[in-house]
Amino acid sequence: MYGGKCAYCGCELHPGWHVDHLKPIKRHLHKEGCRHPKRDCVENCMPACASCNINKHSMSIEEFRKLVGGFIKSLNRDSTQYKIAKRYGFIVEVEKKVVFYFETFVSSSTTITASEENTSAGIEIPNKL
Ligand SMILES: [Zn+2]
Repeated sequence: MYGGKCAYCGCELHPGWHVDHLKPIKRHLHKEGCRHPKRDCVENCMPACASCNINKHSMSIEEFRKLVGGFIKSLNRDSTQYKIAKRYGFIVEVEKKVVFYFETFVSSSTTITASEENTSAGIEIPNKL
């Protein structure tokens, strides 16, 4: 669907990749079924790497965008290793929008564009480590 890549982060998918519901179906925790059974259809399914699928969980795409956009803040608050790596110049933070791979992917038959824009911090890791 997206050239064998995760619809969200764009990484190469490997055997065991997940199928995520773009619009969450919100499975019931202690019984069969879900709150939005009509969303359990092929048109709502996205190929995803395990980490994107697990982190997105039952969030909407905009909630997931907000989560990803907040990772730098969390790393600066909670990760000593991140802060040290940044001080040593291994990590350079940049301001950028969270744009999912499927929002930029262009195939011969389908083009999906972002519905909303969102600005947040991202990081670039220098190539020379
Ligand atoms: Zn991913």
